Amino acid sequence: MCGIVAYVGHREACPIIIKGLKRLEYRGYDSAGIALLNGNLNVYKKKGKVSELESFISDKDTHSHIGMGHTRWATHGEPNDVNAHPHYSSSRKIAIIHNGIIENYGSLKQHLKNKGYEFHSDTDSEVFINLIEDIRENNNISLPEAVRLALHEVVGAYAIVVISHDSPNQLIAARKGSPLVIGVGKDEFFLASDATPIIEYTNEVVYLNDYELAVIRDGQLDIRTREDVAQTPYIQKLELELESIEKVVTRTSC
Ligand code: GLU
Repeated sequence: MCGIVAYVGHREACPIIIKGLKRLEYRGYDSAGIALLNGNLNVYKKKGKVSELESFISDKDTHSHIGMGHTRWATHGEPNDVNAHPHYSSSRKIAIIHNGIIENYGSLKQHLKNKGYEFHSDTDSEVFINLIEDIRENNNISLPEAVRLALHEVVGAYAIVVISHDSPNQLIAARKGSPLVIGVGKDEFFLASDATPIIEYTNEVVYLNDYELAVIRDGQLDIRTREDVAQTPYIQKLELELESIEKVVTRTSC
């Protein structure tokens, strides 16, 4: 298992994400990466520890109020910088982080290749983001709608977060079989594989269910099923104490 952390709100996203990834290190991983949106959609990723990613980004402009980070446990393609997440779509306008396995990625990849899509990594996750891009472009629909339709095409397990260059206040998440928790703060939202990266900021969380899609846009949380039925978010209070998960995670370099 590996980890997802994402943030949108009024704080700096990078330190929250890096610290959150460190809190998820116990899950095991082989590489780490982060996408930050600030005019450009920038992706930085590295094989190895989160601390290596931290060194790599230490001289980059990481200023951003929205972003997403990932620790990967390779299933499709060896652990290296290119296969690490996030993955851009072909247009580089959108990017994905993904935990899990897309079982039918081979046939989807061939289908997309036949349409001219090029792939840079060996991952099933890059297929997922190009599938989303293809559905959006073919149908001229919104990104959340394209993600929802893509969920009908993929077979397997996933927790995903998708970010778009064109929507600086939007994160889209979905899950089936891999956990995903939404932290609800005051004018800010967190996404993570479990609550440990979230607890120091808010104790109000929503656990996303299988086949649900969460769209966080302009400070609003919308949850709907894969069939497009709107759901009322069930906000739970976390009992977890920060001290019980506190490790040597204090400072980050971004
Ligand atoms: N299947 C994806 C990959 O190989 C995600 C693995 C994971 O869950 O970290 O990149």
